[in-house]
Amino acid sequence: MSVISQKPDVIALANQKGGVGKTTTAINMGTALAASDRSVLLIDLDPQGNASTGLGIARDQRKLSTYDVLIEDKPLSDIVLETIVPNLHIAPAQPDLSSADMELMGRTGRASRLKQALRGLDQSYDYVLIDCPPSLNLLTVNALTAANAVMVPLQCEFFALEGLSQLMNTIREVRSALNPNLEIQGIVLTMYDRRNNLSHQVAADARATLGDVVYETVIPRNVRLSEAPSHAVPALLYDETSAGSLAYQRLAAELLRRRQDVAAVG
Ligand code: ADP
Ligand code: MG
Repeated sequence: MSVISQKPDVIALANQKGGVGKTTTAINMGTALAASDRSVLLIDLDPQGNASTGLGIARDQRKLSTYDVLIEDKPLSDIVLETIVPNLHIAPAQPDLSSADMELMGRTGRASRLKQALRGLDQSYDYVLIDCPPSLNLLTVNALTAANAVMVPLQCEFFALEGLSQLMNTIREVRSALNPNLEIQGIVLTMYDRRNNLSHQVAADARATLGDVVYETVIPRNVRLSEAPSHAVPALLYDETSAGSLAYQRLAAELLRRRQDVAAVG
């Protein structure tokens, strides 16, 4: 495992499947890292803007968004907002981001727009988490090009492993063409149901096939995690002692250990 000395540590949450827990992980791991005194920026790269909504950013607060950074050359710092979580900032997304994929096509450096924008960031962050859309489009490629690591939420259900080879191909292509240092930082098993045999089986298969890259921490299926966004707060604020919140705190502690972030807590 490589030692990460550069700041910020940029981690893309990617999986082209929708509904696997990318956004939930971005929000709650981001909150847990921020609670561990790390300064965190969450970049919302999904036109649905669920990470922005889930962190209490109303639509009318999103005058500027990640679209303006990728397409209009706005500096990231112009669009970054504070959230209800101290130490956690967000670069919000709006539905207009859905056209960015097409609009980027004709641009030079189309895959490196986010990477360029991160270079110009004036505030220093310890972690930048990028919440990717459910697609392997240019938005996700921008995230993978800007990141030094990719974290993959994997839902504990049938077919979970099938989509993974496509994602791995994309990661390989990005590595060879754009970002040789991109690491697969980890695979996180999500929506684990311990009463369900299939969950056990998928988790066991994932560990057998993928080995240590799979995080020890497993995120359980937990209703508090799904309720929290409708209250526009992270689960860690909504119900700090719920099984879901505790799991994301463990996940953040495991990430800090894996990143050899020396003052790691937990
Ligand atoms: P993605 O960003 O990959 O599309 P989300 O994080 O939005 O996935 O999760 C999809 C849906 O599942 C959301 O409604 C979310 O609240 C819910 N969800 C995510 N993780 C869990 C979990 N561990 N337990 C219960 N519900 C979850
Ligand atoms: Mg999402």
